[in-house]
Amino acid sequence: MSKTTIFGKILDSEIPCHRVFEDEYVLAFLDVNPLSPGHTLVIPKERVAHLHELSDAQGAAIGRVLPRIARAILAATGAAEYNLLQNNGPGAHQAVFHVHFHIIPKLGDRGLGVGWDSSSLEASEAESLLTKIRAGL
Ligand code: AMP
Repeated sequence: MSKTTIFGKILDSEIPCHRVFEDEYVLAFLDVNPLSPGHTLVIPKERVAHLHELSDAQGAAIGRVLPRIARAILAATGAAEYNLLQNNGPGAHQAVFHVHFHIIPKLGDRGLGVGWDSSSLEASEAESLLTKIRAGL
């Protein structure tokens, strides 16, 4: 990614954040426009826009800390439920083009609203998809 994003500026300490957690690979901070109290963003220090561009090492580093950060947010907010959200691309609601995971506590009416317009998976479609997806792994 060539263009610096607002999260790149946070990593460079050019703009402040409400830091929740930091280690060698990961930074977590409070979202400035939270959907609910405790809404936190977890970002890799690697500067790529989309999850599929992230190195395995940085992906693993985020995966390692997400449960711990989620537990701390639940304990701090009293929430028992939450959503993990990770948007990729403007059509998928991504506004900041640096990989980030939202941890969004569900507190009464506050939290993530989810539209879920599902359909039925046909066996022939599944087979065709599996062949193509497995070829890319
Ligand atoms: P997304 O739509 O997944 O790209 O979400 C981007 C998120 O970044 C939004 O929830 C914003 O409120 C949040 N955000 C933008 N700028 C900042 C900032 N400077 N500090 C903390 N959160 C931010």
